[in-house]
Amino acid sequence: MKEYDEARVVLSTLLEELNCRLDNIIHDVRHDQNPLEKNFSEQATQNENNEVLDQLGNSTRTEINQIKIAIANIDSGRYGICELCAEPISKERLAAIPYTNQCIKCASKVGPKH
Ligand SMILES: [Zn+2]
Repeated sequence: MKEYDEARVVLSTLLEELNCRLDNIIHDVRHDQNPLEKNFSEQATQNENNEVLDQLGNSTRTEINQIKIAIANIDSGRYGICELCAEPISKERLAAIPYTNQCIKCASKVGPKH
């Protein structure tokens, strides 16, 4: 287990940052909803902004989930193992994306072709 203590710290820090970012995003969306002071074009811009914030919120939530899974995997001893082929994920890849659960081979199969 000691092997991934450092990764656990990195992931926990990242998780706190993302939770904080998500709070800010949610706060921004709520804070800006004040239609009485807006004319139509401002309202449209505002809606677009909220859409962007929604997307940001969704991708942040997805990242938060991946990090939580990664931390759970450290605890259960499955961290650093590819969920698709069960091969170990390289240290370099884990250093770059600490919450990844796929090895570079499987990730490049799923991802866009070059
Ligand atoms: Zn794999």
